[in-house]
Amino acid sequence: MSRLVLGTRNRKKREELADLLKDLPFEVVDLSGYPSAPEVEETGTTFEENARLKAVGVAQAIGEWVLAEDSGLVVPGLNGRPGVYSARYAGKQGDDEANNQRLLAELAPLPDDRRAAYYICVAVLANPKGEVIGVTEGRCHGTIIKERRGTGGFGYDPLFLVPEWHQTFGELSLRVKQALSHRGKAVVAMRPKLREIK
Ligand code: IMP
Repeated sequence: MSRLVLGTRNRKKREELADLLKDLPFEVVDLSGYPSAPEVEETGTTFEENARLKAVGVAQAIGEWVLAEDSGLVVPGLNGRPGVYSARYAGKQGDDEANNQRLLAELAPLPDDRRAAYYICVAVLANPKGEVIGVTEGRCHGTIIKERRGTGGFGYDPLFLVPEWHQTFGELSLRVKQALSHRGKAVVAMRPKLREIK
């Protein structure tokens, strides 16, 4: 059976991606079986650049089909921050609690109508030679509330309210998050390209 390697070390992202891909006719694995896979540095200034770096770098190193993504939260009222620096907004890579605190502190002086935000995900599929076969994007719009709600998801999810559902990504079930989310939309858009995996 053919195989697709998820080029991310973020466990929560991997779980969501694996769930989004579970009906496809190939094996989906993570990087744990590939000790030679590089820790790709996110040196790009855009989501697409970083997603390309990850997909191509890992595919070239391990010679397998690789799906990588770069994602983050964009708040136009904060000139686009946290943006590509979402994972290390408060300084330390992946410190969700500190990142949420910094986001709340930066938004505190702004009027409520400046709390609109969107999540964005750019996914890149690379073939075993390291050639880019597909680039897709998904977005999900919402607002940043003032107090955390819910324990699901990860990252900024307890603060990210989806107005149509009156719930945050921390409160909504995984099934609903997958249907609405930036990552879900990017993976759905990638489906035609994923059929090339043989
Ligand atoms: P990346 O690993 O550089 O793509 O970092 C993504 C960061 O964006 C995460 O660490 C989170 O802070 C944020 N992020 C991306 N997608 C989500 C999501 O679905 N929920 C919550 N936070 C997210």
